[in-house]
Amino acid sequence: MSQETAMKDFIAILDDVMSLCCRWNRGAQITLIGGDPLLHSGFESLAEILANTPSVRIIVAGNPETLSPRMIEWLKPRIFAFQVSVDGNEQTHDWFRYSGSYRNTINRIKEASQKGLRMHVMTTVSKENVGQLVDIMHTVYDEAGAHRWAFARYVPPVGEKLDLDPLAYRNALAKVETAHLPYLKANYDPQRKDPLWYPFRNSPPNSDDNPKHCQVDGCGIGSPTLAVLPDNTVMACRRHAGSTLGKWEKKGDILQFLIFSRTMKQLRQLENIEGCKDCPYLYCCRGCRAIAYAVRGCLTDPDPTCPIL
Ligand code: SF4
Ligand code: SF4
Repeated sequence: MSQETAMKDFIAILDDVMSLCCRWNRGAQITLIGGDPLLHSGFESLAEILANTPSVRIIVAGNPETLSPRMIEWLKPRIFAFQVSVDGNEQTHDWFRYSGSYRNTINRIKEASQKGLRMHVMTTVSKENVGQLVDIMHTVYDEAGAHRWAFARYVPPVGEKLDLDPLAYRNALAKVETAHLPYLKANYDPQRKDPLWYPFRNSPPNSDDNPKHCQVDGCGIGSPTLAVLPDNTVMACRRHAGSTLGKWEKKGDILQFLIFSRTMKQLRQLENIEGCKDCPYLYCCRGCRAIAYAVRGCLTDPDPTCPIL
């Protein structure tokens, strides 16, 4: 696809999304993600178009190496936040990437946040770093000055095992919960990205309190959240390999995908999810459906990290 066609499609898809938001009286949060979006030759044009679109909150998820002083200043008035990854303590993070990457990342978060760019940090949890979450949190908040830190479990390629012990993960949640309390009091965002937080924190809900079986919390797949790939493929969740809904071709397709897609309807049939269907947390959790699919290969399989199953 030529850059000109890609740009035309981007504008048309944005128009489709914003028409729907207008119809539903909602704003949109749009995250530009790579690879590294800053390396795309059309990045500044795309970000400028988004920045000039009313009711859009923009997040860019990129690499610290390309977040130059000039780019920090350019992004500041245009985006809500810039997100980078920290995937362990210095040794682990550098083992995943390259020697010096951790220090470079921490320094860049510090520089950007001191210059007024809101910095988000994401950690992908695996068995290599599950015991380091509290250390990572302290470093990115206290040393680097990040505005938000969150984590999500690694989603393996389809057919591979998730090498993360449910008990080790539950212990990690307990440690983060305690260590995060002072940050919560200081108005940092609550930790809630992983659906397993809900059963960790709450007693089983009473089914009489939810007679219409509404989705109250947990995995957001099936809700009005979509991922659009560079070739216009639309997915319900970019991490869920089985959640492809089709290719965007014309105005109105976003609504069609969200409401009428067969896959989307299957993803919303919560009562079919093995294990979860008999669990009192069904409408508040369901685990990560992307991990369940990757490990077991079916839309209705259970999350292998669930400590209950
Ligand atoms: S069985 Fe499903 S809904 Fe219940 S706690 Fe486990 S992942 Fe969550
Ligand atoms: S499938 Fe996993 S990554 Fe996707 S929305 Fe649900 S919890 Fe998040």
